Amino acid sequence: ATPMSVMVGVGKAAESGVLIRNGEALQTASKITAMVLDKTGTITEGAPKVTDIVLTDVKDFDEDTVLSLAASIERHSEHPLADAIVASAASRSLPLVDITMFNALAGKGVEADFKGQILLFGNEKLMHDSKINIDAYQAKAQQLASESKTPIYFSVAGQLVAIIAVADPIKVDSVAAIKRLKRNGIKVIMLTGDNKSTAEAVAAMVDIDHFYAEVMPEDKAKKVADLQAEGEIVGMTGDGINDAPALALANVGFAIGTGTDVAIESADITLMRGSLHGLADAIAVSKATLANIK
Ligand code: ADP
Ligand code: MG
Repeated sequence: ATPMSVMVGVGKAAESGVLIRNGEALQTASKITAMVLDKTGTITEGAPKVTDIVLTDVKDFDEDTVLSLAASIERHSEHPLADAIVASAASRSLPLVDITMFNALAGKGVEADFKGQILLFGNEKLMHDSKINIDAYQAKAQQLASESKTPIYFSVAGQLVAIIAVADPIKVDSVAAIKRLKRNGIKVIMLTGDNKSTAEAVAAMVDIDHFYAEVMPEDKAKKVADLQAEGEIVGMTGDGINDAPALALANVGFAIGTGTDVAIESADITLMRGSLHGLADAIAVSKATLANIK
């Protein structure tokens, strides 16, 4: 494409809230054969809310105690799930406590110390790695996940005290936008760190056939590389710090405009409106730009 037609294309895309950082990305967009979509914050709103608090029968742990402790840990985390917990505790006006140690365990959850007791809050992997017995509650967690909620296990001093479930609504236009991509002959793939059952429920809701769940942050870029090795021209769309390496590696990286700065800096194109319709819009502008110069 001529520099002039690229400039026109970039301007046209900007009108629909699609910011194209480099002309090359505009030219490559029309050649994308596979689009990888992150789940949380990309397909979904990324603003989860607490839906269920399931207590185990450990003495002294009622709903408010559990939520207050969980929020006391999560106020130190920047994960979208953390915001849901903190907001829920705030809505009940629960007091928070001071913890003495805090660790974010990427892809698994968080860890803290309160009065010499280790608190763990996260997924099944975190519980398994820490040898917490969750056998009696796995079926319940599975049921919550099949409702597309994310179950978070909470253990105190080696004992499971609760499961807190959060739900993250799907963006209103994700279904239509994904349908547009598929109509363009593009293979659509969802990647998430979330558990398999939740991922499956969300994928079904947006009609995505290919998904990978429980993907550790460092493995997102590897999935992009694998697709490229299979000969695919890969688009990657994400919003999180976790997505940055994959966004940089993809043939075209698309960042959600409301996402983290790191994601935006690693991507070629930013979807200012946060809507996945920006993907098919960018591809349409790319096609028009290339057609103009032939
Ligand atoms: P994603 O953003 O795709 O869900 P992450 O790697 O950020 O991927 O998280 C993977 C999983 O790890 C989450 O679904 C959750 O189960 C757990 N997790 C990560 N961070 C936290 C946190 N701060 N609090 C609770 N659970 C967490
Ligand atoms: Mg995300």
